[in-house]
Order: sequence, then structure tokens, then C-alpha cells
Amino acid sequence: MSANLATEVLVVGAGPAGIAAATTAAEHGRNVLILDDNRKPGGQIWREASTTAAASTHAKDSKKHRALDRLQRSSAQILAGRTVFNASSAGFLEALQQTSSVSLIERIHFDHLILATGARERFLPFPGWTLPGVFGAGGLQALVRAGYPIAGKRVVVAGTGPLLLAVAAHLVHDGATVPTVAEQAPFSSLATFSASLWRQPSKLIQGARYRATLRSTSYRTGCWVVEAIPAKDTHQLSAVRLTDGKRTWTEPCDLLASGYHLVPNTEIAELLGCAFASSFVLVDEQQRTSLPKIYCVGEPTGIAGLDAAIVQGEIAGLAVAGKPTSSLRARAQQERAFAKRLEHAFALREELRSLAKPDTIVCRCEDVPFARIQGHTNWADIKLQTRCGMGPCQGRVCGPAIEFILNCKPASVRQPLYPVPLSALCSADEPAPQVPNIPIPKFQNTEETV
Ligand SMILES: Cc1cc2nc3c(=O)[nH]c(=O)nc-3n(C[C@H](O)[C@H](O)[C@H](O)COP(=O)(O)OP(=O)(O)OC[C@H]3O[C@@H](n4cnc5c(N)ncnc54)[C@H](O)[C@@H]3O)c2cc1C
Repeated sequence: MSANLATEVLVVGAGPAGIAAATTAAEHGRNVLILDDNRKPGGQIWREASTTAAASTHAKDSKKHRALDRLQRSSAQILAGRTVFNASSAGFLEALQQTSSVSLIERIHFDHLILATGARERFLPFPGWTLPGVFGAGGLQALVRAGYPIAGKRVVVAGTGPLLLAVAAHLVHDGATVPTVAEQAPFSSLATFSASLWRQPSKLIQGARYRATLRSTSYRTGCWVVEAIPAKDTHQLSAVRLTDGKRTWTEPCDLLASGYHLVPNTEIAELLGCAFASSFVLVDEQQRTSLPKIYCVGEPTGIAGLDAAIVQGEIAGLAVAGKPTSSLRARAQQERAFAKRLEHAFALREELRSLAKPDTIVCRCEDVPFARIQGHTNWADIKLQTRCGMGPCQGRVCGPAIEFILNCKPASVRQPLYPVPLSALCSADEPAPQVPNIPIPKFQNTEETV
């Protein structure tokens, strides 16, 4: 089944950047539609909380509530539970809506497109990283928000980036014990980074709050996990081996939350043919990409955090409405400079390239061990000869890891960006009965309304 919709401004991603863009454009009289693959708007940082403890923490998050209230009061419409799997520069996107009873492809035509697709965690393979009990740091946080019981568990948090502190503080707040946060970046880089934060006091205050929550946790810089160790009688994680490059020791734990900063979700921009600067979508001061009427905001333009996402979203929202953006430029520039400092401070150390052993799985979807990709220098060869990157995640997990370890980047992106059932593709030409065209009810999603 398929449905055709049309809108003036289409926003992909209902995280802070997409919400700010959609709200601002709608408040300035544009007809706006937002698509997101989650059940509710909020993106990663404002992900809905289903436990009472997490919900009460979120209730105190005034930025989130201001943003969601403004969105709700604006005329912007949101279609949740939609995964965009195709994009055409002819001015339309295709999204899959899938529930237990329906697989529906929607084609949405737009005049202006704002990409606000956020970022995902970078995972690096090391012996034992696929054991039960090893999670992505942000992934574990999302599970806890969804009700996964964490109270009483002993969790080591490891990897790199400011997300580690945010996750560790969240876990402690919800009753976990976090004996160690292992940050691979050296102390000297973090000291320079922290000293630069005087320009943005709100970030300093946030860091101080995390440290206060983590007063019983040891925050080790220049420290990383070399192995996750299973219990003798089960395959469940029981401890991790940590090193500071000179000494190696064992830390018993129930869970490991591991993430190596973030990588941008740029597949839709790549499919459309937007220009890139390094790994990020190239934008001008109005968040315009190299393609006419296509904008990009938030993490795909540089990993810079919440404040950058919001100000970039506001700029794009004003720009598509033909309004001046100059009053926001200084704020946006400050956040861009912050992104550069972040990238520099949390750069991955050389030692992490050699964590994987020959039998360490690098592509979890296709079960490819490191030995099979060793020696290759070209992503196409790796893919053709090992099926690495050809599973359901389409290289989203193994791609960034292999790019770092072997220095070879996935060559191209093709649609469908996500798995789409053949039945949905085959019946895409059949009109859908009872599927509404615009106007779309507010916060329409697959399960319930907000
Ligand atoms: C797992 C994770 C946890 C994080 N937790 C924290 C935290 O606790 N504290 C903190 O300060 N920062 C956190 N961050 C960083 C934070 O997300 C960013 O700093 C910032 O909020 C990004 O805003 P954004 O709108 O650019 O992206 P996001 O918030 O990531 O929003 C992007 C949205 O686009 C949707 N999307 C992407 N592709 C598609 C598609 N093809 N079809 C439909 N929808 C799509 C995503 O599902 C998501 O809802 C986290 C990041 C990640 C990856």
C-alpha cells in the first residue's frame, strides 16, 4: 500500500534540531511536516521516558518542555513511526510505516527539505564486545529510560566523549553503581578542553552537575577497555580488562556501557548528492546545503551537542520562511567552535586501532571476524569478499569502526537505506484505503498521541 502526501517544508528527524526548525518555520507561516522513526518527538537526548524515575528527571528538563510545548502550539504536523529509506532530488522522500498489521510506504513531496537526522554511537570491536551484558553507552541509557531495571547493577562506562559522563550520571541516578568511567582521551587534552569552557558557562555547570552525581566514581583519563570477560559457566559478562597503556587490570562488573563518541547520520544527504566537508554535510550560514532548497541541521553538520542543534534548527526554520537569521549567527559560530574543540579533545588514540584480535567479530550482522578483513584497503573489496556491511544495519555499526581501524570508508550509499519488506515495495503502487492525506492529525503516530 502507498500514500502520497505533500508539504511546503519537510523536516526529517524530530530531535532538538528538527523540532526547532519545524516550530520556527511553522510559527512564520510555513506549512510544515516532520517525520521521525521513533514513537514520539524528542530525538536521542529527549527520548521519552517510561519509568517513573526517568520521567521525573525529564520533568525537570525545562529546555525539553519549552521546545515540545512550542511545537505542540505551532501548526507543524508530525508523522511518527516513519523511517525514511529513499530520497530524490526531484523533490520527494519515501518513508516506511511498519506495525504488526501494516507495512505502508508513504511518498512525501516537498518544496523545502530540512535534514535533522542526528547521530549514532561509534562502536569499536575488542575481544568480548559482543557478549551479553555489553551495551552501547547511549543504547543502555535508552533501554533504562524504556524501563530496563538498572538499580543495584555494577556498570563500567568506557569509551570516549562527553556522552560517557551523561550516561554514567543517569545510571547512578537510577540506582546503578558505576565504579569507573574509562575515558580514552589523555588528561592533557581534557584539561585544555575544560579550560576552554569558560566561554560557555552552562556547559561548565552541566559538567559540574555530572561530577557531583559521580562523586563515588573514579573518572580515569587515558584509560580504555582491552577485553570483556565472560563468567566461566555462562556467556554473560563478568568483568572487563582495563589499561592505561602501562598497566592492565581487571574490574568486575555486571554490565559494560561502551561508546566511542558519535558519528553523524548522513545517509539521506549522501543519497541526495549534498556536498560534504570531511564526514559532515557542508552548509552555509543559513544551514543551506550545496543543493537548492535542501537544508541540514544538528549533528550531521558536526557533532556539537544540544545547544548547537537548537540554534541551527532555528536558523533553518527562519531561512525557509524567508526571514533574516543574522541575530543567531554569533551563537551558531560559538557552537561550531565548540564542535571543533570537542573533536580535537576526544580524538581516538592509535592504540584503539589494534584492539580487535583475528577472531573478534567486526560485522555482527554477517558474523565477519577481523581476520577476514585484515589486509584489505578498499571497502568495496571487503564487502564483496566477506559480506561485511551487507546485513540489516547496512554498515551503520561496522562501517565507522572499519573506517577507523583500516582507514577505508564505505564508498557509496544506495536506497533502500533501511530494510523494507518486499511486500511493501511490491504493493507500493496500490492506493492505500483509509489513509488520510493532509491535513494530518497532530502527533499522529503508530500507537498513541502525546
Ligand atoms: C544514543 C545517544 C544518546 C545520547 N544521549 C545524550 C544525553 O544523555 N545527553 C546529551 O547531552 N546528549 C546526548 N546525546 C547527544 C544528543 O543527541 C545531541 O547532542 C543532540 O541533542 C542532537 O540533536 P539532533 O536533533 O541533531 O539529533 P537527534 O536527537 O539524534 O535526533 C535525530 C532524529 O532523527 C531521527 N532519524 C534519523 N534518521 C531517520 C530516518 N531515516 N527516518 C526517520 N527518522 C530518522 C532519529 O531517530 C532521531 O529521532 C546522545 C546521542 C546519542 C546518539
